[in-house]
Amino acid sequence: MQLFNTLSRIREPFTIPTDRPVTLYVCGVTPYDTTHMGHARTFIVFDVLVRYLRWHGATVRYCQNVTDVDDPLFERARRDGVDWYELAERQIAQLRADCAGLNILPPTFFPRVSEEIGTMIPIIERLIELGHAYVADGNVYFSIQTDPDFGRMARMGYAELLAIANQRGNNPNDPCKRDPLDFVLWQRGNPDEPKWESPWGMGRPGWHIECSAMSKRYLGDQLDIHGGGADLIFPHHSCEIAQSESATGKKPFVRYWMHVGLVWLDGEKMSKSLGNLVFARDALRLHHPDAIRWYLLSEHYREEFDYRRDAVARYEQYAADLRRAVTVNGGDHSPLDVSRGRADVIAAIDDDLDTPAALATLHTMAGMIIDAAAEGRDVSAAQAILRDLATMIGFTLREP
Ligand SMILES: [Zn+2]
Repeated sequence: MQLFNTLSRIREPFTIPTDRPVTLYVCGVTPYDTTHMGHARTFIVFDVLVRYLRWHGATVRYCQNVTDVDDPLFERARRDGVDWYELAERQIAQLRADCAGLNILPPTFFPRVSEEIGTMIPIIERLIELGHAYVADGNVYFSIQTDPDFGRMARMGYAELLAIANQRGNNPNDPCKRDPLDFVLWQRGNPDEPKWESPWGMGRPGWHIECSAMSKRYLGDQLDIHGGGADLIFPHHSCEIAQSESATGKKPFVRYWMHVGLVWLDGEKMSKSLGNLVFARDALRLHHPDAIRWYLLSEHYREEFDYRRDAVARYEQYAADLRRAVTVNGGDHSPLDVSRGRADVIAAIDDDLDTPAALATLHTMAGMIIDAAAEGRDVSAAQAILRDLATMIGFTLREP
């Protein structure tokens, strides 16, 4: 199959291995305000990828983390006057329920940062030992000067990188830093935040090192595929590359970087600050999970997606047609042949997960089966094929 690699900016052939596991890491949620449609879209896209690889006989080791040690979680806990751990627990339970409701297969590994601090410390120690990181006043920073390729995936100049980093939590005026773009590996944190022991004193890890450490622990030094939302390309994933490659000396850290376009709401950027998040649990109260999945996959995953609340209803009909097509009774003459449709669906998914094309074909196949059954034709073999493809894409085919 072909996958678009954000690092090279081209489609590259990806041979699905069946003699070894495929390793996939997807950056998960910070557990507050979960699970909105941006999360749902990202997890559904990777769910299709996982299902497709397994359909081909591959073993997929899929690791998705929970960032339960992170500024936004602590800020929310402070704002609401609740314990950060309890807030995280509640939100993780919600996330699991939402993903199950959306028929997203659970990842093989689902580590939580708060339980993985011991995984992070040795990597930070190694980076210091190799001269890629420095200690200052109880904090540890990654020195971007030691990585000549720093930020290469973002393809921007220094000033632009700095501007984006500053919007996303970087503190350029930190007097301990050698370069304003140097990023935190370990920090003392604020007095009311959780802290763990470390060789540099009590504190907590920086966000980026968390994913470098967990991906290494669960999947190894080098990964096949690493994904997440497009907003993670810089700084998060760029910092992961710098840390992981510097610590292990192995390049590339990741063979294929896949990024899912951001989700808008009714023409506006969906964001916490605008307060216009659509939550999966609310959408699931109104819509069949197959309709939500169909809708979210109706645009190519790399495109931005404008979620229109009034648009989901149309996909209820598509999902209903699909259910009808796999259950309708046909006759016993002139068997319907849908092998060409099947080949088209597979070719579409092979083409960098072209789900809009795959779903259009699936919809056509469903219509053909319904029509042929009405004519008394034998549709049983066609139904088996349609059911197999629909399940491969993750449709439940359950009656509402
Ligand atoms: Zn991450």
